[in-house]
Amino acid sequence: MQIRSWEIGRALGIPIRIHPSWFLVFLLATWTLSTDYLPESLPGLSPGRYWVMGAVAAVLLFLSVLLHELGHSYVALYYRIPIEQITLFLFGGVAHMRQEAPSPKAEFLIAIAGPVVSFVISGSCLALVALVEAIQQDQALRGVAMLGLLLGLGNLQLGMFNLIPGFPLDGGRILRAGLWAWGKDYYRATKQAAVAGLGFGLIFVLWGLLRIRQAATGELDSSMVWTGGWLALIGIFLYVAALASRRQAALRHTISAVKIQDMMVTTVVSIPSHTTLDEAVNRYFQAYGYGGFPVVDDRRLIGLVTVADIQAVPVAMWSWRRVDQVMRPFSDSMVVTPDVPAVQAMGCMAREGWDQLIVVHNGEIVGLVTHSAIVHFLQLRGASSR
Ligand SMILES: [Zn+2]
Repeated sequence: MQIRSWEIGRALGIPIRIHPSWFLVFLLATWTLSTDYLPESLPGLSPGRYWVMGAVAAVLLFLSVLLHELGHSYVALYYRIPIEQITLFLFGGVAHMRQEAPSPKAEFLIAIAGPVVSFVISGSCLALVALVEAIQQDQALRGVAMLGLLLGLGNLQLGMFNLIPGFPLDGGRILRAGLWAWGKDYYRATKQAAVAGLGFGLIFVLWGLLRIRQAATGELDSSMVWTGGWLALIGIFLYVAALASRRQAALRHTISAVKIQDMMVTTVVSIPSHTTLDEAVNRYFQAYGYGGFPVVDDRRLIGLVTVADIQAVPVAMWSWRRVDQVMRPFSDSMVVTPDVPAVQAMGCMAREGWDQLIVVHNGEIVGLVTHSAIVHFLQLRGASSR
């Protein structure tokens, strides 16, 4: 889905975007409502009225999907998970979260929030319908009741469908939260929940094909071809999404197992703190080709000096300045232990703006690791695990 989507506004600070495929479903919904559903349930109005009512209903259904996604987003934001955007497309909506949930409980609450919103809307609309029917059968009020019924049932369906326990549907996320809490393994839980997603995808495809067959042989009304086609399409979408989630979880699993010790350079060269800059350039930077070196004072680590630190000093000054005068003084964020996962170390580098980390074990410098080394290593691992 590389086609551009349009930003139509913001809610909770999140950009709301519409994918071109959404217009298709919007037109289809308006068309079905105004030519079929509304004339049948509210006879005697002009075609223009049906089209206006159909479009209003379609917009309200679209708002329902948006509110469902905002339900997920609201809880995610509570857990400080940034949301890049909410996109509405052919099959509904999706809130793009930048991080995974921090715990099974958070995962569960974020996942359930969407269907809860849908059920609340559904309940309110159906209660409104019951109220209107209890008062009077006035023509205008009957229109309102019809819209209320449509929205009530639409939201009920939206909530129920999303609770199907196949990842990446909301129900599948709830399943993943349960499996994650049970087995304490996030990636395995994702893979298992995605297998359920593959299963439900196949069920939908088969169900859709069966409906198409029944419509073709006259067992069911011929309009069931559309329902069947739609079911099959949803099944394919779910299957493909589950497959992609399963692959991604497997890849992340492989990557998460990679530790700093698997990729660090163990021949570490340190620069004594009293070395002048021109000496450091000649004897270390040019001789070894590294971008940075640990600075030691009597074998004690006191900082890190990089090419950028030296470049910040005019060349004419190089023989007058020492590395301990230009280095970045020691801080805890500068070092890692060999058993830290590479992905975690990379996150730390990004946060602190380091290009390299010094690997320390029992107070001794045992290695050095650079950002580009981790990236290359993970790319190779990722490629070989596919
Ligand atoms: Zn949802």
